Amino acid sequence: MVEEQTNINVTAEQKIWKILEEVKDPEVPVLSIIDLGIVRSVNTSNDQVAVNITPTYSGCPAMDVIQMDIRLKLLEKGYKNIIISQSLSPAWTTDWMTEEGKRKLKAYGIAPPNPKQQFCSTEMFQQEAVQCPRCNSFHTEVISRFGSTACKALYRCLDCKEAFDYFKCH
Ligand SMILES: [Zn+2]
Repeated sequence: MVEEQTNINVTAEQKIWKILEEVKDPEVPVLSIIDLGIVRSVNTSNDQVAVNITPTYSGCPAMDVIQMDIRLKLLEKGYKNIIISQSLSPAWTTDWMTEEGKRKLKAYGIAPPNPKQQFCSTEMFQQEAVQCPRCNSFHTEVISRFGSTACKALYRCLDCKEAFDYFKCH
């Protein structure tokens, strides 16, 4: 009987993970919070749902929206007792973004985070070779360290002359 109980719990939690795929990043609506890799854990007990997330970086205004969206989505699906908490450590890195997420980001016209880059500082960031999401050229230059939002930087491709957002490493 214990085993059966466990199975029920796994199913309930898997259901929540599935629902969370419908919660999008307000800044990049093609990405779900699962693609972003910010959901750390999902726990259900009785009628309570506990979701733990790690902000893409502290002070990112999108996080408040994301927390609200998670709550609204779960309410919509009939869950009432919802606890959303944040884990600040370990800090989120772009490595947590799924391959699917990076692919979607590129298809959306935003250069995905450079997978080779393990850390970044202001100096490194300026020298970083960012690939153009349209023509794949590395011949790009930074226009502004802040793009359409603080989480992105604005770049220009010197080959196809298009400006594009780059999803910054934090
Ligand atoms: Zn280009």
